[in-house]
Amino acid sequence: DLVKDEDLDMLQDLGAGNGGTVTKVWNKKRGCVMARKLILVDAKPSVRKQILRELQIMNDCSSPYIVGYYGCFPVDVHVGIVMEYMDAGSLDYIYRPNGSISIDIVGKVAEAVLHGLMYLYDVHRIIHRDIKPSNILANTAGEIKICDFGVSGELINSIANTFVGTSTYMSPERIQGAPYTIKSDVWSLGISLIELALGRFPFSDSPESEPDGPPSPTASEYDPDPTLPLSTQRPKLNSDGSAKRERRRSQGVSLGGGGHTMSILDLLQHIVNEPAPRLVSRRKTFPQEAVIFVEGCLYKDPGERKSPQDLLAMDWITKSTVTKEDLRSWALSTINPDQD
Ligand code: ATP
Ligand code: MG
Repeated sequence: DLVKDEDLDMLQDLGAGNGGTVTKVWNKKRGCVMARKLILVDAKPSVRKQILRELQIMNDCSSPYIVGYYGCFPVDVHVGIVMEYMDAGSLDYIYRPNGSISIDIVGKVAEAVLHGLMYLYDVHRIIHRDIKPSNILANTAGEIKICDFGVSGELINSIANTFVGTSTYMSPERIQGAPYTIKSDVWSLGISLIELALGRFPFSDSPESEPDGPPSPTASEYDPDPTLPLSTQRPKLNSDGSAKRERRRSQGVSLGGGGHTMSILDLLQHIVNEPAPRLVSRRKTFPQEAVIFVEGCLYKDPGERKSPQDLLAMDWITKSTVTKEDLRSWALSTINPDQD
C-alpha cells in the first residue's frame, strides 16, 4: 500500500539540493518516520503523469544497498517521492562537520555503493548517474545505501532543462559527451571515496580546505563546491540558478591564492586533461590496498577502468575486518545531539 501525501506530517527540513527539498516526515497511518523529497517539475500534466508512471519502477527496487521507496505523488508543481529515512544522513553532511571519515569505514562505503550499483544495473538495467557523497546515506543500524538514481527518463529530461547539473563528480568521458555507462558511476565513486577519506573535495589543494593539513608551498588553490550548478558558466546546461543550501561557497574558485578564480568550466577541463586524482595526502598514509582500489576507479579511459565486479574482488574489500557493529557505532558517533 503506497504512501499518500495526506498521510504525512512535516517534522523537519533535512536539506535541499539542486532541484529538491527533503523533509523528515511522520507517517500517521503507519506510525513511522520517513523522508519526503519534493522535486520541482516544470512540465505539462501529460509529462508529469509519465514521470509518475516511470517512477513506479522504484516499487520493484529492493536491496539492502538502496534507500527504500514508499511511493510518489504530484504535489502542485512538484513530484513528491517518499523514501526510507536514514537517520545518520548523507555522507557529505557527515564528513563536513566531523572531518574525514576513517579509511576502513570508507572501504565499507565503497562496498555498499558497488553492491547498490550492481543491483540497479543487473536487475533493472539502471545506471545511477549521480553518485556523490550527498546521495550516499547511512543509518544507525549500520547500513549504507544509495539514493537519487536516474529511474525516470522523463524526469531526467524535464529537470535537465531547469537545473540538473553537470557535476564535478562526472567522468572525463561524460564531460566530453559520451553516454552514461556503469563505468561513469565507478569514476564518481572514486572521486567520492577520496573526498570522504581526505575530508575535502579532491580537486582542491588549498590549506584552508584541508582541515588538518599544513599549507604546501606548491599547492594550487581551487576549491569549488562540487555541487555547484553550472548556470553561470554554461547557460546551455543550466538555465536556473535556483536557491541552494548555504554550504555553497562561491561561484568561481580561487586559484593560487592570488584572488584569481577558476570557473567550473576550467575545472571540468582540468578533469579531462590532467591526470586523475589519487588517494594521497601530505598528512596521512593510506593503506596500499585502498590506494590501488581508488586508482582502479579513476582510470581516465573507461575501457581500462575497473568494473564493479572487479572492484568488489579487490583486497581492500575482501580483507576488510570492519563489522556491522563497527558501522553502527560509527554512524551513532556521527550524530551530534546538539544539532537537533
Ligand atoms: P543534488 O540536488 O545536487 O543532488 P543533494 O543530493 O544534496 O544535491 P537532495 O537530494 O535534494 O540534494 O537532498 C538534500 C539533502 O537531504 C541530502 O544532502 C541529505 O543530507 C538529505 N537526505 C536526502 N534523502 C534523505 C533520506 N532518505 N534520509 C535522510 N536524509 C536525506
Ligand atoms: Mg540527492
